[in-house]
Order: sequence, then structure tokens, then C-alpha cells
Amino acid sequence: MSALSQRDPEIARIVEAERVRQVETLEMIASENYASAAVLEVTGSVFTNKYAEGYPGKRYYAGNQHSDDLETVAIERAKELFGADHANVQPTSGAEANMAAYFATVEPGATIMGLSLDQGGHLTHGSPVNFSGRLYNFVPYTVDRESEMLDMAAVRQLAIDSKPKLIVAGYTAYPRKIDFAAFAEVAKEVGALLMVDMSHIAGLVAAGEHMSPVPHANLVTSTTHKTLRGPRGGMILCRAELADAVDKAVFPGTQGGPHLHSIGGKAVAFGEALQPDFKRYARQIVENAAALAEALQAGGFRLVSGGTDNHLILADCNSVGISGLKAQNALQGAGIITNKNTIPYDTRSPFVGSGLRIGTPALTSRGMGPEEMRRVAGWILRVVKDPDGDGVREGVRQEVAEFAREFPVPGITDVQLAAV
Ligand SMILES: *Cc1c(COP(=O)(O)O)cnc(C)c1O
Repeated sequence: MSALSQRDPEIARIVEAERVRQVETLEMIASENYASAAVLEVTGSVFTNKYAEGYPGKRYYAGNQHSDDLETVAIERAKELFGADHANVQPTSGAEANMAAYFATVEPGATIMGLSLDQGGHLTHGSPVNFSGRLYNFVPYTVDRESEMLDMAAVRQLAIDSKPKLIVAGYTAYPRKIDFAAFAEVAKEVGALLMVDMSHIAGLVAAGEHMSPVPHANLVTSTTHKTLRGPRGGMILCRAELADAVDKAVFPGTQGGPHLHSIGGKAVAFGEALQPDFKRYARQIVENAAALAEALQAGGFRLVSGGTDNHLILADCNSVGISGLKAQNALQGAGIITNKNTIPYDTRSPFVGSGLRIGTPALTSRGMGPEEMRRVAGWILRVVKDPDGDGVREGVRQEVAEFAREFPVPGITDVQLAAV
């Protein structure tokens, strides 16, 4: 019996139910992934007990010799993995990393350009309900109406007209490659700094499957739990000249004590991403997304921008006659976990949305390849074409559960599977 099940059976049952859910469903939320057993081990370790305000060698508390070792390894591995001058591994999430990045580079009230939220930007890129939209004057750029892709000529014109101090690139629901070199040129021309938020694609960048923003941007923020497959958390990479400003913006600027257990998990994840098999993993994510896209298109789905270059697909559910919300809920009933999303120039509200965002990072972590993607596409098509059919949904759910069990989830063993 585990310590948890002895001390708190109620919570132990909930955790076990979640383990079963993760094994028996197909996780296709593009921002999710499975941390390895090694990452989970350090994340659940005694480092959760320690306060370490400050940075290695400059702490406000005693007893930090091992914390210093841990954070130093995490920093050095992050720098090696991404070829960065400086790394701050303390941000507790992507949102915190972005807040610190803004604090490090601009004053409240400054003009910042970011992709419009309903076209794939993030809440922290200027949403009025987020600190970013309340503290800064965000000017949104948009994708081209026809191609549904970034239009660098339009980005440049908006930059000339609005004179931002900072330009933000990097998105949550953009299925195409991003030309960071082109963004850097625009930023230079208008005298702005370039910040890239690579939260979604960090794993692809680490493996060379996407252009790295590091040589082009003044600073780069990221989560560590998406394609990078680490613990929940964030980080900031920057050039040497911004190192002090970034460190001060994280602590004491926006955070208190660092989450050392999470920093340990980041160190392990960076170490894993430095191994040759991570390159194969990242390539497989992209190949799987391409195979899935092709099969969904062959089945009648229109995909935003006509396809994908990365780990995610934005499917236009109007093409199968339903809303994104309806597709998301029907698929959940069938054990396929995705999320609704707006599509560029959407006519539906963000709570309903016309799009469905579908990603391959988590399934790829379970060892699935293009052949499995084609089977998954078949299930998705069956469900969205009969979203109210209880029989279809239940039939697919059973097939999905049986299929899913064949592919072990990293970090999950000895799970007590429910009868399908
Ligand atoms: C996920 C994401 C974030 C926020 O990360 P959290 O850890 O959820 O705070 C920020 N920016 C982008 C582009 C993201 O995709």
C-alpha cells in the first residue's frame, strides 16, 4: 500500500482514476504530453520542501548547497540544448515566464505587438482579461484571410504604423512554421525588441525540427511541459545583455521561492532532450501530424491553412457541419481528448468555436506512428459525422480503450485498469 492510499484514500482514488483515464484515452490536446518516470520522480522529491529565493551562489536562505547544484545543472543543460547565452529556469509556468519577460524589457503602458488571440495567440499576449492586456497596449496582428498563414508584409506594415517597443511571436494554435529571422528583421527595422514564446514548439526546436528562435530573438520564453515533455513549468532564454534584467524580473520582480522540485524535473527533461532518441521523437511528432492531417482531409475535414508543418492541426468543424464545442464533447465521449478552438475570422464565439485543435505529441510519446494516426483519424471521422449517435460514441470508446492500452504511457506502470 502506498503512503498516499494509507493516509488519504480519497485522494489516492482520484489519482488512480486519473492514471486509468490517461492510459485508456487518446490524449490529443496539442499542449499536453507525458513526463517520464524520471521526471515524475524528481518532481515528487524532497526538493518540494526547500526554500531557495535567489540564484545559485546568491540565496536568501541557508542550506542550499544541493539546490545550487540542481539549478546549475538545469541552467547549463538548457543553455546547451538551445544554444543560449543565458537561461532562467525559475518561472513556474509559461504565463509567469511571459510576465517576467515583459517586466524585463518594457515599461507598463508600452506598445507590444502579438498575434490576435482568436487567431492562435495566447492569453498572455494581450488578452483584456489577462495582466498583459491590462498593463500593456497590445496591438494585434492577424493571419492572411486567404492563406490563413502569417503575412510578414502585413506584420511589417503594422509595426511601422504602431511603433511597438516589443514584438511577440510564437503561438498556441498555429499549425505552420514561423520565420523568426523575418520577425527579427521587422523588429530591427522599427527599433523593437523581439520576444519569441516557443511554448508549443520547444521540443521541435530542441530537436532541430523547427527553426530555432534563439539566434534571432532578444529573449525566448517557453513552457517545459508541452512538446519538451518535462514537468509543468516555464523558462526564459536570452542574450547576455538581458541576463540581469531577466533574472531580476523573475526574482524578485514577479516570483518568490523557486519550485526546486520542478527545476529538478526540468533538468532531467533537458537531459532527455539532449539524447539522440529525442530527435527521432520530435521528427515522429511531425510525421504523425502530417499523416493525421492527410487522413482527416481525405475524410472530408477542411484544415486551417490547408495542413500542418508542426505538431498540431486546426480542423474547421464547419466542414463537417458542427461546432468545435460539439466535436470536442462528442470525441470526449469516445475517449479522444481534444479541445475546441476558434479559427481565423471565426464567426462563432470563443466558447463554442468553429475549430478543433488536435496534436500528436502525447500519442507519439506512447510510441504511435503514422499507421496508428490513420486509425485514430478513422475514429475521429466516425464520431464527428454522427456526434449525437450514442451507439457510435460508445462503440468507438471501447475500441479506443482497447487500442490505447497497447501503448504504454511513459511514467505510468501497474495501473488497475477498469473493465472496458
Ligand atoms: C501554454 C502557453 C503559455 C502558458 O503556459 P502556462 O504554463 O499554461 O502558463 C504561454 N504561451 C504560449 C504560446 C502557450 O502555448
